[in-house]
Amino acid sequence: MEIRTFAPPEVHSVLQLKAIPQLKTQSEIAVVGAGAFGGWTALHLLRQGYRVTLIDAFGPGNSRASSGDETRVIRSTYGANETYFDLNRRALQLWCENQERWGKKLFHRTGILWLCYHEQMPFIEATMPFMAKHGLAYEYLSAEEAAYRYPLINFTDLHHAVFDAEAGYLMAREGCRAVAEAFIEEGGRYIQAQAEPMSVNHNQLAGIKLSNGSVVQAQAYVWACGAWLGYLFPEILGKVITATRQEVYYFGVPENCSAAWEHLPVWIDWDNGDEFFYGIPGSTHRGFKVAYDKRGEDVHPTHMERQPTPSLIEKSRRFLARRFPGMVLAPLVEARVCQYENSPDGNFILDRHPEAENCWFLGGGSGHGYKHGPAIGEWAAQIITGKQPLAALFSLVRPAIAQVQGGQNDV
Ligand SMILES: Cc1cc2nc3c(=O)[nH]c(=O)nc-3n(C[C@H](O)[C@H](O)[C@H](O)COP(=O)(O)OP(=O)(O)OC[C@H]3O[C@@H](n4cnc5c(N)ncnc54)[C@H](O)[C@@H]3O)c2cc1C
Repeated sequence: MEIRTFAPPEVHSVLQLKAIPQLKTQSEIAVVGAGAFGGWTALHLLRQGYRVTLIDAFGPGNSRASSGDETRVIRSTYGANETYFDLNRRALQLWCENQERWGKKLFHRTGILWLCYHEQMPFIEATMPFMAKHGLAYEYLSAEEAAYRYPLINFTDLHHAVFDAEAGYLMAREGCRAVAEAFIEEGGRYIQAQAEPMSVNHNQLAGIKLSNGSVVQAQAYVWACGAWLGYLFPEILGKVITATRQEVYYFGVPENCSAAWEHLPVWIDWDNGDEFFYGIPGSTHRGFKVAYDKRGEDVHPTHMERQPTPSLIEKSRRFLARRFPGMVLAPLVEARVCQYENSPDGNFILDRHPEAENCWFLGGGSGHGYKHGPAIGEWAAQIITGKQPLAALFSLVRPAIAQVQGGQNDV
C-alpha cells in the first residue's frame, strides 16, 4: 500500500486533440496482463459486448505480479483527491456486487484504524467533505478511548485514532483468479503465454506475438502489464513506470488468543515521519501482516530473487514490539517480496501509444492500485472503446509527469 497526498493535475490541452474512434461491439480486443487492472478491464469489455482475448505470461494473480499477494487494503481516504475517492466508492460497489454473483468472499469489511501522532491529520481531514457528501463519517477516538477498545494496541505515543468503518481488505490473488474464471465462464478467451508487441505501421500496432508461436490480431490492444510495462515499451514507458522492490511479512499470532489478534481492523501508522508501517491483521489466517512502506531498489519483475531482507524483518519486529507488545516474540511465518509499478507522480496511466492509435497502456498502480481494479477497469473499457474521452489525470502527457521526471515525488 502506498499513500500520497497528490492533488489532481490541470487538464493538459494536448488531450483535447486526441479523438478516439468508437469501437463497435463485437470488435476484437486483446488485453495483456491478468492482474487487477487487466483482468477487470477484460471482464468489463466482455460484458459490454466485445470479443476479448486475455493473455498472461504466468497466470492471473501469479507470484510475480503486483496483484499476487494474499491481501490488499481498500480505503476511501485519499486526502483532497476526489477522483480516487469516487473511484474507490465505485470499486467497492463492484467488489461487493461481483463477490455476491460469484459466491466468494473477497472483501473483508474490517474497517481501518488510522493511528495519529498529531492533533490533526490533514490527509484525513481533507477527505471529510467527500465522506460527508456520501453520508459517511469517520469515528474519532482519543488515545484513551482507543486503548480501551483495542487493548492489544499500544496508544501511549499517539494523540488519537480515527476509525473508517467502510474500509477493510481484499483477497488479492484470489480476486484475480475469480475475475479470470468469470471472464472465461462468460465467454472470454484466455491464453497463458508471454506477449510481445509487433511493429507499428501507419499508426497501428500490427499485432501481438506470443511465446507459443502464435499471433493475436485485434482492433485494439491493451497492455496492462504492471511492472513489466517499462521493459516492454522502454522508449515510451522506461522512465515513466519503474519497478521497486517491496516486502511484506506475516507474523504468527499468539496461540492462546489468535482470534482476538485476527479480528483487529486494518491499521495504518503513517504520520510518523519516514517510518510508515501498515498491516492487515487477519489476512484469512495467513498471519499478522506487516509492511514497512519504503521504496526498495529498482528490480526486474521476472528475474528478481524474492528472498526477504533480514534487516527489514528486524525493523518490522522492533515496530511490532512497540505498537503491538503482545507480538514481541512472534515468529515470522511467511514473507513476500513484491514490486511497486511506480508512475512518477503516483497517478495511474491510461493512455494510447503516441504512435499507434489502437494500442493502449494501463498501469502505474504505484502501490495503491489493487482496490481500484473493478472501477479503473470499467473506466478503461469506456475510454478504449471511444465512449468516454481520455482522463487528464491518467494521461502520459499530464504536467505532473513532466515536473517530476527527474526524481521521485514521495509523500
Ligand atoms: C507490497 C505491496 C503492497 C500493496 N498494497 C496495496 C494495497 O494495500 N492496496 C492497493 O489497492 N494496492 C496495493 N498495492 C498495489 C497493487 O497491488 C498494484 O497497483 C496492482 O496490483 C497492480 O495491478 P496490475 O494489474 O497493474 O499489475 P500486475 O498485478 O503486476 O499484473 C500484471 C500482469 O501482467 C502479466 N504480464 C506482464 N508482462 C507480460 C507479457 N509480456 N505477456 C503476458 N503477460 C504479461 C504479469 O504476469 C501479471 O500477471 C500494493 C503493491 C505491493 C507490491
